[in-house]
Amino acid sequence: MAKKSISEIDPLGKVVLMRVDFNVPQDDSGTITDDRRIRMALPSIESVLKRGGKLVLVSHLGRPKGKGPEPEFTLRPTAARLSELLSMPVSFATDTIGADAELKIGQLKNGEVTVLENLRFNTGEKDGDPIFAQKLANWADLYCNDAFGTCHRTDASMVAVPRAMGTKPKVVGFLVAKEIEYLSEAIANPKRPFVAILGGAKVSDKIKVIKNLLGICDKVLIGGAMAYTFSLAQGGRTGKSLVEQDKVGLAKELIALGGSKLVLPVDTHIGNSFSSDCQKQVIKSGAIPDGWEGLDIGPETSQLYAQLLRDAMTVVWNGPMGVFEMPPFDAGTKAVAEAIAKSHAISIIGGGDSAAAIEQLGYADQVSHVSTGGGASLEMLEGNRFEAVDILDDK
Ligand code: AMP
Repeated sequence: MAKKSISEIDPLGKVVLMRVDFNVPQDDSGTITDDRRIRMALPSIESVLKRGGKLVLVSHLGRPKGKGPEPEFTLRPTAARLSELLSMPVSFATDTIGADAELKIGQLKNGEVTVLENLRFNTGEKDGDPIFAQKLANWADLYCNDAFGTCHRTDASMVAVPRAMGTKPKVVGFLVAKEIEYLSEAIANPKRPFVAILGGAKVSDKIKVIKNLLGICDKVLIGGAMAYTFSLAQGGRTGKSLVEQDKVGLAKELIALGGSKLVLPVDTHIGNSFSSDCQKQVIKSGAIPDGWEGLDIGPETSQLYAQLLRDAMTVVWNGPMGVFEMPPFDAGTKAVAEAIAKSHAISIIGGGDSAAAIEQLGYADQVSHVSTGGGASLEMLEGNRFEAVDILDDK
């Protein structure tokens, strides 16, 4: 059932506790190198502020030990960055359930915002501790989850806090609502043909996604290193390609399950070492000589996949077709990105490397949705439900 949105509640004069994903990358000096996650939360943040809410933002950053403050994981730079983006002051509390949080929340006037320190400085966050959660919930009149990247987790701020809110409203933010719309609803009722394209390093990471998508897609195209495990399963030669010997049986099962729905590369771009300036050749799949490794799909496969993607009405993409960080082995990934951008399909790009690739290539604004969550988007594509979302109020 659809969840109640932040737009459907009146935050005027209320304290809104919003779980965001400000887990941004930083360099050694603590400078934020990519503020996309902060910018993605702006619609929900601005919606509360414009309507006179008193906004309290909570997030985790990195993996601190949970035993108190660790300077390299402080959220203070994110408050400064948010202040620049909103062109208004943003206060920062040096704790989450302590005296400074109480002070900063108490000082909020309507339309003002504060950021609390890293939730994971408390062991209670990762442990899902109900006492920690109750203290956080006590700050607020309303709870909003706009942290899609953490939705597959059951950390206190994701599950125990909304539970501790009791009958007080608990809603989704715009970002989480959009992610669910694409990664769950668009996939549940797809326009056909529905084509999924999956790549990346390991079959083992994507087994559940492949199985789930084989049940609902018209075609599932395979690329990346995991294609070589499938090639082994078909009795092919894979040289020194990255393969998972212990997953060959499973690949055989998926081939049998998929039948003509499962499409494997017909050719591959190989090198004699893992580097851009290695010797290279293009050969048929399953014929990689000893001492050589597969580093990308070949041009014939690129063309075949591009054609299937161009004709699709719904596309889901997760994982690169080759070692896209190392030209010329980025060619397959580029061809796929371009075909998706040119298609008229509803196109959904999973988080992680495929999202990075589509951004780098400048096609992000030509697709329907680029997910902000790597692990979370993969779990949604596996067909999993998230407790952190289920627990929120229905429309
Ligand atoms: P994943 O995190 O599973 O989506 O995998 C992404 C990684 O897989 C990227 O760093 C790619 O360089 C890597 N990858 C893709 N194809 C190959 C390949 N043929 N050989 C080695 N690594 C690959």
